[in-house]
Amino acid sequence: MSRTVYVNGQYLPEGDAKISIFDRGFLFADGVYEVTSVVGGKLIDFSGHMKRLRRSLGELELTSPATDEELLAIHRELVARNAVDEGMIYMQVTRGAADRDFAFPPEGTRPSLVLFTQAKPVLQSASATRGLKVVSVPDLRWARRDIKTVQLLYPSIAKMEAKRREADDAWMVEDGFVTEGSSNNAYIVTEDDVIVTRALSQSILHGITRAAVLKYAAEAGMRVEERAFTIEEAKAAKEAFVTSASAFVTPVIEIDGARVGGGQPGPVARRLRDIYIAESLERAE
Ligand code: PMP
Repeated sequence: MSRTVYVNGQYLPEGDAKISIFDRGFLFADGVYEVTSVVGGKLIDFSGHMKRLRRSLGELELTSPATDEELLAIHRELVARNAVDEGMIYMQVTRGAADRDFAFPPEGTRPSLVLFTQAKPVLQSASATRGLKVVSVPDLRWARRDIKTVQLLYPSIAKMEAKRREADDAWMVEDGFVTEGSSNNAYIVTEDDVIVTRALSQSILHGITRAAVLKYAAEAGMRVEERAFTIEEAKAAKEAFVTSASAFVTPVIEIDGARVGGGQPGPVARRLRDIYIAESLERAE
């Protein structure tokens, strides 16, 4: 069945949606995006995604295409029109269409706004039950990973490298330390049950799920340390897991072929997943 998508003010069948070939998102990856999970037809942590969108737009001096309230209304309308019960909604803002030039186009160029939905199970996922196998790859992305840009070629290459090595995902390593997963934040649990994840900086995306999970972990009395860790430390850890808006909390059971936590999803990851889902559903809008 054809989806209804949103392009620059219009709701259209996906086959009729059009973006200019001069769009700077297409030519320069000059754009940012957000992915919000949908459960029971409701949006998970929409305000968190809006806060990060505003920051990404600001860092790149991109014009905002709409207010938070307007964007919320479009999200809701698209979820309703496509009758999405569970899945995700993708939103992309680019600098718009202009003659190809490295310099930004003149003021007044209208940003492009595109949204589409993808229905899929998010609460019950095979990878959450089974746990992920990850492999390490060098982090070869640009240095502003805190901005959620649409330039996802290297994460895509990293994911293909993982597949080639018969794993599910890649953890990227820079200067000997794990930065993050190809599309998620990375964590380990130490022998004395401390949850460790890299501190926020320009080296990683400031995950919306990361912020929520660390808050819930602290509220539940779990100890959290924000510092970098190596692949060797991760391999020897009690548990490992990742977080993202679409994977929530998902256990990691193998790193570069070494089993973590006996090759089974661990209790900390499972508990955090349960808490995250319960809390997020309560706040979903
Ligand atoms: N890091 C990267 C590189 C990502 O692409 C994502 C997914 N957007 C995340 C972390 C997790 O962020 P969030 O929890 O906001 O989805």
